[in-house]
Amino acid sequence: MVVLKILNLEFRYNSVKALENIELTVNEGELVSIIGPNGAGKTTLLKCIARILKPSQGTILLENKLLNKFSPKELARRISYLPQIEEPKYPLTVLEMVLIGRTPYTSFKPTKEDLEKVYTILKQLGIEHLTHRKVNELSGGEYRKIMLARALAQQPKILLLDEPVNHLDLKHQLEVLSLLRKLALEKHITIIMAIHDLNLALRFSDKVIALRKGKIVFCGKPLELSIKIIEEVYGIKAKMILLDDGTPIIIPYT
Ligand code: ATP
Repeated sequence: MVVLKILNLEFRYNSVKALENIELTVNEGELVSIIGPNGAGKTTLLKCIARILKPSQGTILLENKLLNKFSPKELARRISYLPQIEEPKYPLTVLEMVLIGRTPYTSFKPTKEDLEKVYTILKQLGIEHLTHRKVNELSGGEYRKIMLARALAQQPKILLLDEPVNHLDLKHQLEVLSLLRKLALEKHITIIMAIHDLNLALRFSDKVIALRKGKIVFCGKPLELSIKIIEEVYGIKAKMILLDDGTPIIIPYT
């Protein structure tokens, strides 16, 4: 089932055209990686889908309905967005911070069910030991996981993640991406993430989108992404090897 359809999308920051002629269809439960060099338009695309930015042209359909027809609450129950950088502004506890994700469902006071949901997510991410810590006293990686927990607590249909494994060590990168994979597979959550690590993108995604200078230059399955496209997108030389299980590994060189 198609959950998101984007037609002829364009976005401008005043005179800078950041996205041009973006056409994209995303199915329910798909894990989509957006790759591309710095400034390619990855964050801008995620922000247009999250309705943080208003496109200068084009159409975004969510569940076959125009994105701008959803009320803020309706949208918050469908889409959650993890920004690339977000510094802790207030000395909330981890529990308080993650409970913010429940706002689209609660009135004033969180219910027992809200608390249970939050505890489950903290456990899934292996951070229940941080529950009562202050968010401004955590490491970068710990804080990143808290922000991801808040996005998950929103119980979205579509999870938009801007570099979700940034700041995480290798083990935690794999753990978080495996969890996202599982959520897509078992809970049919659609995940669209901007990610710089090509090897993680290829390993965990159903679909890869390569952006260059605001345009989609590739959209397809990980194994369809050729070295030629990678070299063209990043302006580098690269080699691809296949692991025994068929996972492609990209090795860049100059
Ligand atoms: P990165 O990998 O570095 O995070 P990105 O692919 O996410 O990059 P965007 O942040 O979407 O790229 O930026 C796309 C283009 O829009 C770039 O040319 C950038 O300089 C420009 N841009 C981004 N934000 C603004 C802004 N607030 N005002 C003006 N131009 C902007």
